[in-house]
Amino acid sequence: MSFLWDMAQDQRIGEVSSKASGARSQAQTAQEQTEQLESRLESLMLANAAMWSLLRERLGVTDGELIERMRQIDLLDGKADGKMSARVLECPTCKRTMSTRFRRCVYCGTPVAGGSPFPGV
Ligand SMILES: [Zn+2]
Repeated sequence: MSFLWDMAQDQRIGEVSSKASGARSQAQTAQEQTEQLESRLESLMLANAAMWSLLRERLGVTDGELIERMRQIDLLDGKADGKMSARVLECPTCKRTMSTRFRRCVYCGTPVAGGSPFPGV
C-alpha cells in the first residue's frame, strides 16, 4: 500500500516539477521581452527628446504648445487617459469595421485611402 502511495506521489512530484519548469521558462521569455521593449522605449524616448529639442530651438515651438497638442490628440479617442487608441473606420468595400492601425482591410484587403503614418491621429 505504501509502495503504491509513494509511486503516486512521485508521479505528482514529477508533474509539478514539469509545470514549474515550464512556468520558469515562460517567465524568462517574458523577462527578455520586457527588457527588449524597455530598450526600444528608451531609444524612442531619446529620439523624441532630440526631435523636440530641434523643434523648440529652430521653430520656436513652446512646451505649452506641445502639451496642448498632446491633450488634443489624447482626446481624439474620446478619453483623456494619456494614451493614443487607434480609431475605427468602415471599409469602403465590405463595410466591416476596422482599425486605422491597418493600411488594408483585414477582411477583404482593400487599401485604406489616406492612411496616417501615425494611426489614431
Ligand atoms: Zn473590407
